[in-house]
Amino acid sequence: MAYFNEFWELMDQDQLKEVQLEKFQKQARRMYDNAFYKRRFEETGVTPEDIKNWDDIKKVPFTHKDDLRENYPLGLLIGDWKDVVRIHMTSGTTGTPTPMVYTQNDVDVWTECMARNFVAGGLTKNDIVQQAHGLGLFTGGLGFHYGLERVGAKVIPTSSGGTDRQLRLMQEWGTTVFTGTPSYAAYVAEVAREKGIDPERDLKLRLGFHGGEPVSDELRKRIDERIGYKAHGGGMRTCYGLTEMGGPIGMDCENTSGIHLWGDHFLVEVLDPKTLEDVQAGKAGELVITNLSFEAMPILRFRTGDRVIVSFDRCECGRTHPRITSFLGRVDDMLLVSGTNVFPSQVEYVLLQHPRMSENWQLVVGDKKGLHTLKVEVEPVQGAEIDHVFIERLEKELYSHLEITCRVDVKPIGTLPRFEGKAVRVRDERV
Ligand SMILES: [Zn+2]
Repeated sequence: MAYFNEFWELMDQDQLKEVQLEKFQKQARRMYDNAFYKRRFEETGVTPEDIKNWDDIKKVPFTHKDDLRENYPLGLLIGDWKDVVRIHMTSGTTGTPTPMVYTQNDVDVWTECMARNFVAGGLTKNDIVQQAHGLGLFTGGLGFHYGLERVGAKVIPTSSGGTDRQLRLMQEWGTTVFTGTPSYAAYVAEVAREKGIDPERDLKLRLGFHGGEPVSDELRKRIDERIGYKAHGGGMRTCYGLTEMGGPIGMDCENTSGIHLWGDHFLVEVLDPKTLEDVQAGKAGELVITNLSFEAMPILRFRTGDRVIVSFDRCECGRTHPRITSFLGRVDDMLLVSGTNVFPSQVEYVLLQHPRMSENWQLVVGDKKGLHTLKVEVEPVQGAEIDHVFIERLEKELYSHLEITCRVDVKPIGTLPRFEGKAVRVRDERV
């Protein structure tokens, strides 16, 4: 088992907790100089000096996504503006963007986390990597790029898209590692076959580091098989990240027994979203993260809105840091349909249990005489036989998972959209 930074990755958990408390106290003191955070602290009657032990962390106010938007662009800056070397933000297509700014220290910390992730996932200096997360305002592309280079791998910064060229480069350079969204990996595998390229025979891909959208175990299995990772002795690793914490920060190790998050840089809590108390070990709750190391725009106790199960036990790989063992849905992705919460990931889970169904699907929310309707459009795989008995069975399974009626509409192969970045799984046609 290889490690990028053995000292930190294998640190004794009690020792790690001490480091976390010390770093948390320091961040809280720094943040008290910021008008927004000072007001927040004052509203709850807590000062940074009140944080004396581990339990005191629970007294510290949360930060929400809206806080970042409302203070756009620099209201939450803690560090000195003159030290800022990088600015990222979300696309802002649904309103004000969420900003994140970095000092050189912050870029270095982020790069270190990504380098640890890649080595944990099996990357070596000998690997040739096509980095197909989009390069730009989005944090994914550069976060990946810097981490890959830090390990010493040979990076081809293709960015996303240009699928023909991606495939050509894979053949010409003997690319061994591919990154990008899981849906893009699935699409590249599909185009390869259309062009008569057999990924097992004609490509050398052995590892995929894929993030930017939730992925079910079933989709991961399919990608492993279709793009050749499994045949070449490797597999897909899932990445977790969010702009508010700097970008992509966690990844599966080679055991794929959960996404490792680095406790010396991020304090992880899993809370019941109603009581805001810690959930019991092994139970699902909302992921709350504190950025312990960033200088420019660190965030305390950020409510991610992500429903997860986290294991705080030591992983078989030896790493002592927390792991997201199940990702149950992102609140941003949740749909409210006739008063029922629907996560598109639940639909994918049901569909991909069936080998006859492809990973090309879309959920359509409609409106009929004031009542919401739900329909999933899905393409079958090549040669699959679909009859009404099968469709009825699928509809029943969807109902038992979603607790709401969802019609199934099987579309001809090649008619649903394909994606080079994050897949758009929902078409909301409600007026
Ligand atoms: Zn591990």
